Order: sequence, then C-alpha cells, then structure tokens
Amino acid sequence: MPAAPVAATCTARGLAQPVLRVAIAGGGPVGLSLALLLDRMLGERVSVQVYDHRWQQRGHTVAWKTEAEGNVRRQQVVTIQSRHYTALGEELERELFQPAWCSEMWPVGPDSVGGRNPVNIPIARLEDQLLALAARRPSRIQLVPDRFHPSQIAIGQADPPQVLAICEGARSEVSGTLSHFQHKFGTPDKAMYSHRGRHFQDVVLGLRVKSRLDDPSAVLLTVSQNRYLLNAVRGEGFLNMRLTETEAAMLAGFEGGAHIPPAAVPAPLWHRIQQGLQLFAVRPQDLSAIVMFRIGMVQRPRFSAELVHHSAAGHGTFGFLLGDTANAIHFWPGRGLNSGLSSAVSLACCLKEHWKGRPLRDADFLRHEAVMSMLQYRHKSRAWRHMVTTDEQGEPVAICEKIEQAIRADGLGWHDHAGTLQRLLDQLVRVRERLRTRLPGLPDDDRLREHLRGLDLCTLRVMSHSGAWDSAQTGGQEVDAAELHGQFGWA
Ligand SMILES: Cc1cc2nc3c(=O)[nH]c(=O)nc-3n(C[C@H](O)[C@H](O)[C@H](O)COP(=O)(O)OP(=O)(O)OC[C@H]3O[C@@H](n4cnc5c(N)ncnc54)[C@H](O)[C@@H]3O)c2cc1C
Repeated sequence: MPAAPVAATCTARGLAQPVLRVAIAGGGPVGLSLALLLDRMLGERVSVQVYDHRWQQRGHTVAWKTEAEGNVRRQQVVTIQSRHYTALGEELERELFQPAWCSEMWPVGPDSVGGRNPVNIPIARLEDQLLALAARRPSRIQLVPDRFHPSQIAIGQADPPQVLAICEGARSEVSGTLSHFQHKFGTPDKAMYSHRGRHFQDVVLGLRVKSRLDDPSAVLLTVSQNRYLLNAVRGEGFLNMRLTETEAAMLAGFEGGAHIPPAAVPAPLWHRIQQGLQLFAVRPQDLSAIVMFRIGMVQRPRFSAELVHHSAAGHGTFGFLLGDTANAIHFWPGRGLNSGLSSAVSLACCLKEHWKGRPLRDADFLRHEAVMSMLQYRHKSRAWRHMVTTDEQGEPVAICEKIEQAIRADGLGWHDHAGTLQRLLDQLVRVRERLRTRLPGLPDDDRLREHLRGLDLCTLRVMSHSGAWDSAQTGGQEVDAAELHGQFGWA
C-alpha cells in the first residue's frame, strides 16, 4: 500500500500552503516524465505518487520485474524530436539522451529547434533512465510498485489526490483506469478514421534486427516507400513491415505482441520478410525476434475532467488523459511519444501556474485542454496520411490495400524487372534530392541501383506502388506545448 502523503503543507513563497497531491497511474515514459517535470517545476509545492505493476520492490529500490515475473520490456527504438526533448529542460535532456545509447539517424525538420537533430533511443533505456532519476527524488516522488486501483478516487474516500494523471498506455480504455472513468471523458469516435463505415487499421510485423546499412541509406530507403520502416540505434532496432489483411490472416493468433517463431510463418510471407532483410542489409542470423500488432486510431472528445467534486468532506480530484491513453497514434511517422511528452509538459505547466492551494477548477485547465486538442489534430492527421492515400478519383485507399494490389499485380502492368527497378529508382532519386541539404552521405544512383537490383520483381513493385512518404502534406507547423503555455525556456 502507498505510504501517507509526503507533506501536507509547504512554505512556498514564504507562506504555508497545502501541497498538491498528484497520483500518476502508469510509470511508462510519459508518467515518469510527468513526475520529474512536476518535481522540477513545482518543487516543494508538490507530492507525487507514481504507480506501475511492472515494477517490484527490491530492498530499498524499485526495479523492473523480470520476464519470468511477467514483464516483457518493450524493445522499439523511438525517435524524439528536439522540440520535445529540449522542452524537458537541460538536466533531463542531458541525463536521458546520452551519446552512449542514442544516435541521430533522422535529419532536422519542422519539429526541430535550434537546428538540433531528432534523437533515437531504445524505449527500455529511456524508461530505465527515467526510473533511476525519479528514484533519486524520494522526498517528492514516491514510486509505488503496484497497479493503480481507480476505486481510490471516489466520493467519501479519505484524502484522495487532487490530480490523477492517467498514463497507462493505449490499453487503459480496455482494462485500466480509463475504462473505469470512461463516462467522464466521453465516447471515442472511430468515424474520422473510417471510410464507408469501415474503421481502417494497420497490422505491422516488428522484426528485431541488426542492420549493416549506413543511416543515410536506411533513412532514404525508409521514406521512399511505405512497406518497410527501419528505426535503429547504430543499426540495432526494429524493421517494421506493413502487412496486408491477407498476410495478417496468415499469422492469426499472434496479434498483440506474442513472439512468432519463424517456423510459424508461411513460406510466401517468409520470403517477403527475407526481402525486407535484404533491403536493409540484415543477415539471417541478425533477425532475433518477430512480433505482430494491430493499430487503429480514434478521436477523443476531451482529455480533462473533474472526477470527484470537492465538498465539505474534502477536496475533489481532476483527472487527465496523457500519452497513449489520450492519443494512441499510428507509429509509422514516429510521433506517439513526442505527443505524449508534450502532454506531460502541458499539464505540468498548467499545475505550476494554477496551483494556489485552493480547489482546482475547470478554467485552470483551459490551455491544457486546448494543447491536447491541438496534439490530437496535428499528430493523428499526420498519422492518418501514413495509413491512407487516395486513388486517381481522390477516394481514400488504405496503403495496405495498395500493397495487396501490387502483390497481385492487379492491373498495374509492371511485369518487367528492369522497368520496375527504374520506376522505383526514380522515386528514390526524387526523395534524395529533397533530403540532400539536410542529410549528408546519401547514396548515389549507381549504389542505389546495385543495392536494389537483387530484390525480386514483386518487392520492387510493392515498394514503388506503396508510394513515398507524403512529406508535402504532412509537413508544416508543429505544436509547441511549452511555448503555448508561455513557459518556453523555464529550465
Ligand atoms: C514499434 C513502435 C515504434 C514507435 N516509435 C516511436 C517513435 O519513433 N517516436 C515516438 O514518439 N513514438 C513512437 N512509438 C510510440 C511510443 O512507444 C508510445 O507513444 C509511448 O510508449 C507511450 O508512452 P506512455 O507512457 O503513454 O504509455 P506506455 O509506454 O504504454 O506505458 C504505460 C505504462 O502504464 C503501466 N500501466 C498500465 N496500466 C496500469 C495500471 N492500472 N496501474 C499502474 N500502471 C499501469 C504499464 O505497465 C506501462 O508501464 C512507437 C511505438 C511502437 C509500438
């Protein structure tokens, strides 16, 4: 059981003032970042309890449970844009993103600030660093190695926290705290991510690999088509492969993160996996795991809600959806955690500004709710364009359906290897010219031709027909949570 609140009052600004009590359900990267931001921004005015059942108490420390204890650590490499890692403040940025475990694979873009590159980091390493940093602040951050039970937040409960941040990831709505408080946050809507009544979803294979390709070539090959995506730190990471529904059906039963043994993969699909490995220069022995997951998006009506109204008996509780609980975004453009970190920065800014020791009220979260809507609009619109394109008539077509057409060669008429290779090379060269000023070391035409000529006709056709990333449509202004709160440069 969690211990009693750390402190009831503090003497901020020379006045005795009640300490703001914040419970954070979920100690993933967003929950832990929020705890550290609150510690940094509110100082002695806050007391935070972070709950996660993937942790256990080991002596005096809280540590990750092992795989044997039921905790399978995530392995993906995530890309964090400089707008978001700089918003965490210099100290956090320095401690989290150390050159020993990070790399700068991707070029600068509209979400870069001060000309600084995005940083790649294995998510497990990011969580390790965050947990270690939170453990160094025991006077204000209490780590609770347990599942959060929403029954703690109810009328009549003794001394509930004033704030509950729900950072439990995307499954919170199915089996976690969001499912308990769904009526407070409203019903999510699939319609915006559907067409003619069908909710579009993608099924993706995650192949854990070590690639021997240089980063500039890996970036160019990734953004020039929509079938394969490599994100890695010095070649180690995940090669993701977007599947068609027919391919997904070949692996029915493995959805949701279970490891897929190679022997369970039917021969035609195994061959297409091998083609992806060849494309990214992965030797057969450097493929170490295969997982599969399904991704779809919904629109949320709101992100902040009063869960318990304050009364004569005690103060109330405001609840907030953050990170993937708020906005689970298709990961292809790599913005889920960026959006999650922004949501944490935004809530911390609001609490810093509005906690005065009095009951919180709706208006205190005006800006936060606006920032959350902006994040939802910006990141889901971008992610949608990574799931769906349009046909000649402007009708939406799922990219996975285009891949299916290309596999079947449905009316495409690209039946010769040399012509299809040339078509793909033209696509790559157009993307390379766009990237040239931002990414040194890109391969020339001869190297590209040499690299691709060993792929079979079907793979070339799929890559070409799936299309390059639509960077013209997805570029443009980004959401800057700290700036919108007038807090930029607070660190
Ligand atoms: C293959 C892949 C690649 C990705 N690449 C990128 C990328 O390049 N860039 C990017 O920005 N994002 C990327 N993402 C998205 C990113 O991983 C997520 O957005 C991020 O992990 C969300 O963090 P979170 O803390 O909100 O949720 P999670 O990481 O899901 O953490 C939730 C935590 O809550 C805990 N929890 C759940 N329920 C309870 C409960 N009741 N009580 C206590 N604890 C609970 C869980 O144990 C977990 O620790 C990628 C995702 C995938 C799958």
